[in-house]
Amino acid sequence: MSSSVIDYFATEARFGAHNYEPIGVVLSRGEGVWVWDTDGNRYLDCLSAYSAVSQGHCHPKILAAMVEQAHRLTLTSRAFHNDQLAPFYEEIAALTGSHKVLPMNSGAEAVESAIKSVRKWGYEVKGVPDGQAEIIVCADNFHGRTLGIVGFSTDPETRGHFGPFAPGFRIIPFGDDAALEQAITPNTVAFLVEPIQGEAGVIIPPAGYFTRVRELCTANNFMLVLDEIQTGLGRTGKLLAEQHEGIEADVTLLGKALSGGFYPVSAVLSNNEVLGTLRPGQHGSTFGGNPLACAVARAAMRVLVEEGMIENAAMQGARLLEGLKDIRANTVRDVRGRGLMLAVELHPEAGRARRYCEALQGKGILAKDTHGHTIRIAPPLVITSDEVDWALEQFATTLTQDFS
Ligand SMILES: *Cc1c(COP(=O)(O)O)cnc(C)c1O
Repeated sequence: MSSSVIDYFATEARFGAHNYEPIGVVLSRGEGVWVWDTDGNRYLDCLSAYSAVSQGHCHPKILAAMVEQAHRLTLTSRAFHNDQLAPFYEEIAALTGSHKVLPMNSGAEAVESAIKSVRKWGYEVKGVPDGQAEIIVCADNFHGRTLGIVGFSTDPETRGHFGPFAPGFRIIPFGDDAALEQAITPNTVAFLVEPIQGEAGVIIPPAGYFTRVRELCTANNFMLVLDEIQTGLGRTGKLLAEQHEGIEADVTLLGKALSGGFYPVSAVLSNNEVLGTLRPGQHGSTFGGNPLACAVARAAMRVLVEEGMIENAAMQGARLLEGLKDIRANTVRDVRGRGLMLAVELHPEAGRARRYCEALQGKGILAKDTHGHTIRIAPPLVITSDEVDWALEQFATTLTQDFS
């Protein structure tokens, strides 16, 4: 390890808030599925910045769109129109089959905006008494880090000592439609849920769950809000994860890969009157919908479709899942995934997943543990069969080791 690498560690530790515990690698360059550290070592990125760089690092067409737009116009605020917003609306609406779009920046902002919108819809359209709106959410959810959102987290690390929190949320188990049915009241305005729980460890709900959820939302007149910030835009092998379930959400949240990792861009999409309840002055964002963000997002959506990344995610995801299932290691308790959103859950006796991630780093793979015993695997959607096969060899030799 070179001395400059040690400097990065020490300087970060000295000046930075310690709200992360990164793997010991300092990255300085990326291209496609690969990243390089400051010593020139190459790694296959199996995290993709939590699915934000689905299109691959520094995708040349997104880069060109960003540079070109940065030369022309970057920010106008929404006090004026800009010539990128209308085409962005048109293209994202066409891609996702939505009627209305609210552009924001981070994923958490999209979630917050959805919460505000469904509450407003509840009071002004459904007729819920003021201040009484209820939103149903799931245990082990991850929707972001703002105060509003962490208040309905069930993870003690996420919410501990950050209160007091906003009321108006009911928490039920994920994948349990009977629990949803029981939690509904006349004041329910929305059910906010991830199609697959990502941060919880790639938890896929039972077949038929979302069909029943959709029925309950429609029958009881409340909004199904799907947080597709991680699952959306091809990650699971379909444009939206809801397509695996054969349903349509009322409100869909996108972020992360919406910019291919170049810039924070998120969006609230609706196919009904929910976003129509927001009037001038009632919600906003200085950077939301800015021309640079719109140009980047337009290019990010275009390459996703034009370069067949969604189909590739389905194909390579199946290859990777099958290969991982074929690794006969006593350390492995479960392998699961959909498209290129996968996880290997280790037996608790096998040692901490972080230890395996560090061993993978030594073999040229960067992956991230979650919840102690699960290794999450989510490479960029541009990965090839040869790269999948190479990765499988590294996983096989690592997972058959014992770090307990
Ligand atoms: C990452 C993520 C968010 C939060 O996005 P930020 O851009 O980090 O605010 C929200 N929901 C889900 C499902 C996510 O994976």
